[in-house]
Amino acid sequence: MTRKGEEKEFVKELTPKSVDFSQWYVDVIRKTDMADYTTIKGCMVIKPYGYAIWENIKSALDRRIKETGHQNAYFPLFVPESLLKLEAEHVKGFAPEVAWVTHGGDEPLEERLAIRPTSEAIICSIYAKWVQSYRDLPILINQWANIVRWEKVTRLFLRTTEFLWQEGHTCHRTYEEAQEETLRMLGVYKEFVETELALPVICGEKTESEKFAGAQKTYCIEALMADGKSLQAGTSHNLGQHFARVFGIKFLDEDQTEKYVWQTSWGVSTRLIGGVVMAHGDDSGLVLHPRIAPIQLIFVPIYTTATQTAICEKVHSLNSQILQSINSQIRSEPDFRDTYTPGWKFNEWEMKGVPLRAEVGPKDIQKKQVVLVRRDTHEKIIVPEEDLTEKVVTLLREIQEGIYSKALAFREEHTTRTDRFEEFKEVLETKKGFLISGWCGSPECEEKVKEETKATIRCIPSEGCNQVEGYCVACGKPAQKKAYFARAY
Ligand SMILES: [Zn+2]
Repeated sequence: MTRKGEEKEFVKELTPKSVDFSQWYVDVIRKTDMADYTTIKGCMVIKPYGYAIWENIKSALDRRIKETGHQNAYFPLFVPESLLKLEAEHVKGFAPEVAWVTHGGDEPLEERLAIRPTSEAIICSIYAKWVQSYRDLPILINQWANIVRWEKVTRLFLRTTEFLWQEGHTCHRTYEEAQEETLRMLGVYKEFVETELALPVICGEKTESEKFAGAQKTYCIEALMADGKSLQAGTSHNLGQHFARVFGIKFLDEDQTEKYVWQTSWGVSTRLIGGVVMAHGDDSGLVLHPRIAPIQLIFVPIYTTATQTAICEKVHSLNSQILQSINSQIRSEPDFRDTYTPGWKFNEWEMKGVPLRAEVGPKDIQKKQVVLVRRDTHEKIIVPEEDLTEKVVTLLREIQEGIYSKALAFREEHTTRTDRFEEFKEVLETKKGFLISGWCGSPECEEKVKEETKATIRCIPSEGCNQVEGYCVACGKPAQKKAYFARAY
């Protein structure tokens, strides 16, 4: 039945993670049919398996966005050049990455149209018409959309010329309200990424040099990947009144004076999928946690020609039992393909990261049992048929928690506190991960660290903004802030 040689060859297709992390990452994504390159430079196709993960991410986040009072809408893909150029800082930040439409058919356009690198300019120009009175506020809108940024170096899911995301754009009456919204959405992102993606994150504020072009304050969540690099997993910006002034979004307040609105914007993208691959995967491929796994439980029947009918019938009935269980909501599937051996199937589903595999063979039928195998720990669990649904529900919960705890332990092991530059450099070369170090607050010191080590300040955690002890890692003067440093994607 299982041909050993075949299994070996199958696994060999993946570059080991420890040998070449980047190649392992690309191998996993392509061999699991999540995504692939296309003939258009920098653009990928998200294949059904990858897209199903995105759909699960999207629905879990969309629910939270709506629960916090936001509605979805859709705005144009194009931004007229004159609008994009209104806010100087904003256009400067995005200019090198903008793709331009110059012709409609063969006719040159009177004005070039940018394909949105982000939607502040187009949305603000529309909000200016919507907002007249304090009664029109707040505006709490989110858009699920595609974005184009002409990237020079691209990487599947992490940095592609076109990608999918959501962008929230809100208008408020006061600064306080906007700041509250900025932090609320940062909190939503943190809870969402930790609960749904099993990715522990640190959160805090970006420095002046790392913040969003045009924002007053940028907050972020950052997750540590298995190669010790940080991934910015989401951002939330307090835009202040920059855009409101430029685009003329003003309202007549209750006191009869005209005021500009206070704005926020916030977003996460398909790069989260890359984060899930890099944080949880292993040498056998993807490790998906149950909440976003397109298939949570895969049945693999093990049969000979003589036992095929009986075993397939049993698997069919067990799978139906799982699907019909009222409270389970388990995404379960049988793999009845007779063109592959069970051994091949084990390897394939393992590579695709399916959290639980159920094996059913002739012996199991006799004993009225099912053999379950966990993807995360490879543990085998024998379960009586009648307890199957209940056991699967429990195991899926345990796997979700187990994957999160493992990622958290990894981050804790890979977080180093030091104010000494020599040790800082040493850690980046050997242990890697996050460094919590003092910073005097000067852009020169931030730049020096970046130049000499390629590590950047990922964020200033909120508790690190107050008076701190210690010294700036770059200049040795007393520290003003504690910062999280890391090399990043
Ligand atoms: Zn300094």
